[in-house]
Amino acid sequence: MTSVSVANLAGRAVLLKDGLAIDVEQRSDRRFSSDPMVVITQWEAFLTWARDQGRDGSEQPVNAGQLGPCVPRPRNVFGIGVNYRDHGQEAAMEIPKAPMVFTKFPSCLAGPVADIPLTSERVDWEAELVVVIGRGGKNIAEKDALDAIAGFCAGQDISDRRQQFRDKPPQFSLGKSATAYGPIGPAVVSLDAFANPNDIGLKCIVNGETMQDGRTSSMIFSVPQLVSFLSTWCELQPGDLIFTGTPSGTGANRDPRIYLKKGDIVETHIEGIGAMKNRCI
Ligand code: ZN
Repeated sequence: MTSVSVANLAGRAVLLKDGLAIDVEQRSDRRFSSDPMVVITQWEAFLTWARDQGRDGSEQPVNAGQLGPCVPRPRNVFGIGVNYRDHGQEAAMEIPKAPMVFTKFPSCLAGPVADIPLTSERVDWEAELVVVIGRGGKNIAEKDALDAIAGFCAGQDISDRRQQFRDKPPQFSLGKSATAYGPIGPAVVSLDAFANPNDIGLKCIVNGETMQDGRTSSMIFSVPQLVSFLSTWCELQPGDLIFTGTPSGTGANRDPRIYLKKGDIVETHIEGIGAMKNRCI
């Protein structure tokens, strides 16, 4: 089977194939919506249709500057703190016994090439695999969790450490939810793109220097465990997002510390998905 990648090009759902974009609503004669959120609610039928689409001359080149967040309006955006042992150790934080959950308010979402306006001199990067919920549900068993997922995209959990750690206890949600602090993309990629969906390489490169280089197989709580755990509390809906945590190599935990400055270029690379490139302003 061929994997399916769906992006948001100038606000419309497009299928990415061989570097070109196919407009979903037009090509499907309105069977599927131009709204990426609606497409995700019909994910199984959409995958079947999308795999059959070949070239017919209606494809458009992808102008990266027009790519918006591939999931523009999720109802919930969950973040998971300290989900890689090496990151927990570098941050001198205790390894959690259950997933440590916070919110990225959905208004922080941005596209894969969006500019990021810095809010202080202590803003940090966190490359993350992002789960896009498909069918979703409540009380999902771990063994059924991958069936509840539409796919994965790349994400940056941009974090203002000053806001996050200004007081005790820390304030994760606000410090990680400023405008454009949640770039996602470039596309939602179906799970069949991954040889092993529980072992995916991810990297963060800042100004050409590799800062993070990890694999999701070293998560403390795996994607199926996170989906199952969250679904015992919250009913997961199509398009809900889970930022699954970041590996070691964040700026605040380096010696000396490195924070983002105006003009810095943050690249987020995820195996099987592609890359995002965001500029700090
Ligand atoms: Zn994070």
